[in-house]
Amino acid sequence: MKRKEFLELAGAAAAGSLLTGCSAKPSEAPAAASGTTRVTVKIHDLKLRHAWGLSRGTWTTRRNAFVKIERDGIVGLGEAAPIARYNETAESAAAFIEKARPVLERDLGDYAVRFREIEAVGPGEHAAKAALDMAVLDWFAKKLRVPLWRLLGLGRDRIMTTTYSIGIDEVPVMQEKVREASAFGVYKIKVGTADDRKIIEGIRAVTDKPLRADANEGWKTREQALEMIDWMAGQGVELIEQPMPADRLEDYAWLKERVKIPVFADESLILPSDLPRIAPCFHGVNVKLMKCGGVQEAVRLAGMARALGLKLMIGCMVETSLGISAAAAVASLFDYADLDGALLISNDPFRGVVVDGDRLVLNDKPGLGVEGDLV
Ligand code: MG
Repeated sequence: MKRKEFLELAGAAAAGSLLTGCSAKPSEAPAAASGTTRVTVKIHDLKLRHAWGLSRGTWTTRRNAFVKIERDGIVGLGEAAPIARYNETAESAAAFIEKARPVLERDLGDYAVRFREIEAVGPGEHAAKAALDMAVLDWFAKKLRVPLWRLLGLGRDRIMTTTYSIGIDEVPVMQEKVREASAFGVYKIKVGTADDRKIIEGIRAVTDKPLRADANEGWKTREQALEMIDWMAGQGVELIEQPMPADRLEDYAWLKERVKIPVFADESLILPSDLPRIAPCFHGVNVKLMKCGGVQEAVRLAGMARALGLKLMIGCMVETSLGISAAAAVASLFDYADLDGALLISNDPFRGVVVDGDRLVLNDKPGLGVEGDLV
């Protein structure tokens, strides 16, 4: 980034003008001396290429919060894609990041301890915690001049592909989305409506590729879920995500004994501490940085879930290439990747992991390997 632009950005942050709509106290004037951390927080509206429909609502834009930390001439970037279901907004995420400022003044190389301190700043706000964790790791990996995946002891030999998600819409629109995304080998179809059979039949009319389905808690009884899952299995759906409400664990245990295809938890799993309770009720889990609080917690979740015999998926929210690059750095720990968030938006300010066909291609640049800046 150009020095002049950076100084303008930092100056605007000091005046609080970049903290769009945030009720937190504007940033103190950041110090520029070595050993201190300059922190910039910004909210950015992401435009969706298509209306994004889930069982619980439809959106045409998403608001994410971004953080930039700068110290010793090195920049670390992080993204928070807040989850409304957990009472998070871009503004609440930005306010949390502001509160966590003192932690960023300490040794950023001691990132595991820094994460515990970030957690201790306050409850919830997992997306903001993920942004901070990402920024600290990006900064430290850049300081060491290694890619984040290398810092975490991971490689990039394994070929990783991502599914492409088809949001709920009129069936002809969903069919058109499938046609547009012909490079992908597996589609994730959003269901959980009264018209799910029509949706799957409509998709089947335009592709014979494997499908995964995500009901986002849309089916209300275990009998309905079992009937739909059996029917979908016959339509080439290879797994189903969160068919019923998250807290219905007894029903999930009942379902697990009877279904022909794996049932994955998404909304039922937030933190590592949820795992022992939900593990008997599912075949697999969908881990997202924005739910669990970042890269370090995702790695911890992957190890725990594996030990409990669960299959692993790494997923995302609607995120730019910044957040997706952080998830992709650890995707080799997971069986399945659903990291298409940046492909769903038309104004991504960042470039990082590339989706080539449906293959996730990590670069070997230091840190998250992301270029671009807060806009
Ligand atoms: Mg899901």
